[in-house]
Amino acid sequence: MDKRVLLAKPRGYCAGVDRAVVTVEKALEQYGAPVYVRKEIVHNKHVVETLSRRGAIFVNETDEVPEGALVVFSAHGVSPMVHQEAADRQLRTIDATCPLVTKVHNEAKRFAREDYDILLIGHEGHEEVEGTAGEAPEHIQLVDTAQDVDKVVVRDPSKVVWLSQTTLSVDETMIRVRQLQERFPDLQEPPSDDICYATSNRQTAVKTMAPECDLVLVVGSKNSSNSVRLVEVALQAGARASYLVDYANEVDPAWLEGVTTVGVTSGASVPDILVMELLEFLAGHGYGDVEEITTANEKIAFALPRELRKDMVR
Ligand code: SF4
Repeated sequence: MDKRVLLAKPRGYCAGVDRAVVTVEKALEQYGAPVYVRKEIVHNKHVVETLSRRGAIFVNETDEVPEGALVVFSAHGVSPMVHQEAADRQLRTIDATCPLVTKVHNEAKRFAREDYDILLIGHEGHEEVEGTAGEAPEHIQLVDTAQDVDKVVVRDPSKVVWLSQTTLSVDETMIRVRQLQERFPDLQEPPSDDICYATSNRQTAVKTMAPECDLVLVVGSKNSSNSVRLVEVALQAGARASYLVDYANEVDPAWLEGVTTVGVTSGASVPDILVMELLEFLAGHGYGDVEEITTANEKIAFALPRELRKDMVR
């Protein structure tokens, strides 16, 4: 068989990432540099470096932002405590939290108000999980590993609900849910899927093409949860090998030895230019035949944050 590339669609930017990146770009146009951004606006090295060159300053915490300056909160969301810290320092804020993360925050607040114990399935230390858990720290316990399932302690087993981070593996999450259900048969489900459309669509596309691939290359950064999950999903679905790369020049030509079919995809925070550069690199190694594997057409778009829209020149 001839060498070929299968290109997953959907891949790359989701509506929440697009909105967050445009928010910083528009804030720079509207108010001028510098614009401070708490944490990486999205988990992608290229995006962060490009915005830094244009005048965005990325900080870890709001106490690094000068009093009265403008700070953008990232797509992953922040806890109420961070909003309060910003208010205490008289910072002007624009909240670029993805509306689908906000949806999970609202679920957490609602179940906490109703006095549920909330089991939040997610990765310890991830910014999104810290933001969601911060909405109701008294009610939320994080469940990351299978061992965490055994450690959960609830007050009333008939009043327990699970919620999740938006960028998890759909299959792994269901395994964790089943383990939790064994301990808590009355465990309630989130009112609607917490794993977002972009995460699950990108996993479905990879699952579809992986069985035909000797190698799956995922463009994305190592701290991008949904990108890392795509590598895992590719391997579980039958790809012989899979690697995560930020840039085409990180591909080790040895990975291509004996490879006929290369699958290509990218995480939800990855601009498509990086995928095009990878395709050029692969074409240079004899993989010029590219076939797109489409499993969904995404048409979702989100309005820019209100705080920005009100000042924008129309
Ligand atoms: S991956 Fe999903 S939750 Fe995260 S920014 Fe994109 S659409 Fe929003």
